Amino acid sequence: MLTGSLIGGLAVFLSVFHGAATSIPGRSYFATVQPGQKHVEKTVNTQTDSTDMKYPIHKSKSEWKKELTDSEYRILREKGTELPFVNKYYKTDKKGVYVCAACGNKLFTSKTKYHSGSGWPAFWKPISKDAIVTKEDNNWLMKRTEVVCSQCGSHLGHVFEDGPEPTGLRYCINSVALDLVPKGQTANKSEE
Ligand SMILES: [Zn+2]
Repeated sequence: MLTGSLIGGLAVFLSVFHGAATSIPGRSYFATVQPGQKHVEKTVNTQTDSTDMKYPIHKSKSEWKKELTDSEYRILREKGTELPFVNKYYKTDKKGVYVCAACGNKLFTSKTKYHSGSGWPAFWKPISKDAIVTKEDNNWLMKRTEVVCSQCGSHLGHVFEDGPEPTGLRYCINSVALDLVPKGQTANKSEE
């Protein structure tokens, strides 16, 4: 009798606690996205992606080092950040598709690129929701949402909730992580 009510009480406590946990700021990956809400899909913070086995394209450190330039490796594979304002796609308005500089996966189009004033290329939407993966990034004592390539897991940049309509999102992406394939040309590395 007593034990039963204790267990019952514990169950209520746990369910209340669980309910509360879903509304803790920063734990929004537990929350379901409602229609019309800002649509940042988050996955559980994995702390480190040293294995990267969950991505379709998996290469060893030495393979990536061989294929990428030093700055590409530092940004794409070591989550680096390039300098603002002096990077190659910050100002460009050329039409085309931006693909991952590491694997050629199509990521963004020039149609959703805009001038955010931040110093890096900014987009308000990826080319498709399967193109990228987002996850919690608590490095540098800041709570941010990291954007990585869904195919190779390479670091691209971060997404912030201060973008223009209709999404209200700002995908702030390193130029070094992108290759612009001009309109009319084929993104050969990732062509279906
Ligand atoms: Zn990639």
